[in-house]
Amino acid sequence: MTSAPPSSSSRGRLLVLAGPSGVGKSTVVAELRRMDAPLWFSVSATTRAARPGEVDGREYHFVSDEEFDRMVAAGEMLEWASIHRGLHRSGTPAGPVEEHLAAGEPVLLELDLAGARAVRERRPDALLVFLQPPSWEELVSRLTGRGTEPPEVVERRLATARVELAARREFDVALVNHDVRETARALVDLAHSTDGPTSPDGVRDDVDRDGAPAGAVGPGVVGAPESRSH
Ligand code: ADP
Repeated sequence: MTSAPPSSSSRGRLLVLAGPSGVGKSTVVAELRRMDAPLWFSVSATTRAARPGEVDGREYHFVSDEEFDRMVAAGEMLEWASIHRGLHRSGTPAGPVEEHLAAGEPVLLELDLAGARAVRERRPDALLVFLQPPSWEELVSRLTGRGTEPPEVVERRLATARVELAARREFDVALVNHDVRETARALVDLAHSTDGPTSPDGVRDDVDRDGAPAGAVGPGVVGAPESRSH
């Protein structure tokens, strides 16, 4: 008799949170930490030096260039990127992610769009969550903050945001970030729901078809991008 493979339902769910710059990703992750959400937050490895107050293993794992090279070559990075024109590199160590998933704990990765795409390639079972602003105007307001940036910087950010918003269709689920606490709760629900991550085309469209799945997602979930006035 052959032994059955471990049940997939006993594994934790891998959740990737991405979305346009300024939509509120780090604010939502900070809220999840504050509420001690039942999730494991991946800690990235980086080749940059620790800043004052940063603790190795808490904000980042601080590693040398050589160690980073070794991890990439050994396939130990789930995704990684060069930052600030190659000044340093950061990535998601795959080992701890796998350990927590195997122990049945949901794992959250907060990534940029390229990182989310890389994880999708390597881990098609990941649930990709796109954080969306309530409106284009609200994203502009969050991006421009206190209005201290020079106009050309703001323009560049808005141009990038337009491109980033178009990536929504690559994602399984979209959450509209109206209220930080509600969004955080919706993420916890998604992390613990047992709904299948993807339909064959990679876009979970059951929210559109059937309305929000009972208990799985909050009021901010949408199945299609909102139309925008830009
Ligand atoms: P990101 O990490 O996606 O770039 P941030 O978390 O830095 O975005 O948030 C950008 C700005 O938007 C911050 O000033 C933050 O306080 C604000 N913000 C985030 N979420 C909300 C929300 N739900 N409602 C209002 N403002 C928000």
